Amino acid sequence: MTVFGPTKRGVNYPDYVQPKPRAPFTLHQLEDRIRTCTHCPPGTKELGWGYVNQIMFIGQGPALSNTDGLRGTSDFDKFFIPLVLKAKINKPNFYFTNIVKTPVSRVTQAMITHGGTHVKDEILIVKPKIIIALGAYASSWADTVGLRCRRMVHPSATRYGSISEDEWVKQLVVLTSKFINKLYARHREGLPQQEE
Ligand SMILES: [Zn+2]
Repeated sequence: MTVFGPTKRGVNYPDYVQPKPRAPFTLHQLEDRIRTCTHCPPGTKELGWGYVNQIMFIGQGPALSNTDGLRGTSDFDKFFIPLVLKAKINKPNFYFTNIVKTPVSRVTQAMITHGGTHVKDEILIVKPKIIIALGAYASSWADTVGLRCRRMVHPSATRYGSISEDEWVKQLVVLTSKFINKLYARHREGLPQQEE
């Protein structure tokens, strides 16, 4: 299996993708495809949100309370975003998405396999510099598809006491500080924030 994901030269494509015929494929086109997808679990989907060419977080699924498909303002986001900011990652420096697009009370392997096809498309379009899989579902999916990424305990673990918020933030800093410091350096020098 070819490893895919961010590399120094851009994004490696997964085996099944034929990059040329699919381009130009925009984020809006992908969102329309996901919104109308009948293979996802039924319900209002929460689509990915954030900025391209930055850090991409892959979570497992929308909060059960997020029945409106809110992006960036759900109950989960209200505690997730402050943790990310504490790691000195500003909002324009990340993109967030979930493997499963609809809130479900129980995630199945079939949901992960299917949702993962949407996430692969997102990776190709968003072209993240760093991908961080959050939690066991995202990590095991990454293993299955050969995604080059970093892994973290899901941030919800900070709410159940298995890891402190400070420790979680510390781990995030370790995984991202090189990228973020480079961005800040470019900012200080008045250079464009994106390399490409
Ligand atoms: Zn789907």
